[in-house]
Amino acid sequence: MTHRTSAETGITPTAPGFPDVSESAIERVQTTIIDWFAATARPLPWRAEGTSAWAVLVSEIMSQQTPVSRVAPRWSEWLERWPTPADLAAAPTAEVLQRWDRLGYPRRALRLQEAARVIADDHDNQVPDTAAALEALPGIGAYTAAAVASFAHGERTTVLDTNVRRVLIRVFAGRDRPTVSPSRRETVWAEQFVPATDHVAWNAGVMEFGALVCTARSPKCEECPLADICAWNLAGRPVSASKPKTQKWAGTDRQLRGAIMDVLKAAHAEAAEAGDRSTSVVEGVSVAESSSAADGSSVVEGAASAAAGRRSAATDAVAVDLFTAPTADLDDECLAALGPATSVKLTTMRDLSADADRISRLIADLVTDGLAHRSGDRLSLPR
Ligand code: SF4
Repeated sequence: MTHRTSAETGITPTAPGFPDVSESAIERVQTTIIDWFAATARPLPWRAEGTSAWAVLVSEIMSQQTPVSRVAPRWSEWLERWPTPADLAAAPTAEVLQRWDRLGYPRRALRLQEAARVIADDHDNQVPDTAAALEALPGIGAYTAAAVASFAHGERTTVLDTNVRRVLIRVFAGRDRPTVSPSRRETVWAEQFVPATDHVAWNAGVMEFGALVCTARSPKCEECPLADICAWNLAGRPVSASKPKTQKWAGTDRQLRGAIMDVLKAAHAEAAEAGDRSTSVVEGVSVAESSSAADGSSVVEGAASAAAGRRSAATDAVAVDLFTAPTADLDDECLAALGPATSVKLTTMRDLSADADRISRLIADLVTDGLAHRSGDRLSLPR
């Protein structure tokens, strides 16, 4: 490791708060990041020439908390299906959630549709071109507004996502990681690092640098072009006393909510495929077929084969009891009405072995959040 003094680097190692940084140090880091980005930027589809502001907005919402490798195929499908905000605004919410697929945090899909409706109705179907106007849209926060204004419209903004904040905190403040969310003071401090020109390349570059080089867990300091100026590296990479919260998945409410949603999405897809989403028809079929459906089976998997021959009876509304009742009490008729994919998803959800009260609470939350629709004892994607 090359040891340089703070007088040489213009950066104060492991400084508290947000230290002063010399102009020369800022210029050196700006130039390094912009050159590095020009040489190594990934060819992400939304970076292609001619990408619309709407497509950039969709990419930013999808990329929050989801790896770009999972986002790219969904992004392409969404833009093909809903090429403008008005197209998404007019789409059935159930289909929007269905096509969100496995990107996680599905409330993002609802917020995107809300924003699309406002853009279509109040902005002549054009994505606003300033960060201030973007942030006024429902569900669009400071980060997304700054990113879309920069990447889609070339406005000089300060884009501060977790990756950017980590790079700045390490290089200029000598600490290993930022706080959970940026304070006003940090945001103002970060503004000085955005160059007057090439600011779009800086915003995209420093974000990419944090994603690929200065990563949270395994920063590539040995091959880093900023290693000789980075305050955290020069200080010997001291680790904060407090440990970052690691996000668990197994056993969490998030996992269970996702599993419930998977059942509803599968039911919706199978109902759409069968071309019959009428609850009243299904209820009629259930009554009419009750004698033949009652075969004594009480396990979820057993319904799959029975349901295979009844695709025309498919419905996107699933009996709530199928989520909450003990296995021995499951209603064979309700099970038999499920399509095979829905049965598989229900089995997966039930294998999580959550208690009925917890499932009921999460179902109520999904309904409150607008992610599910409950009608009597049946649950479906939103109408
Ligand atoms: S030297 Fe290490 S910590 Fe510093 S910017 Fe480079 S990768 Fe990040």
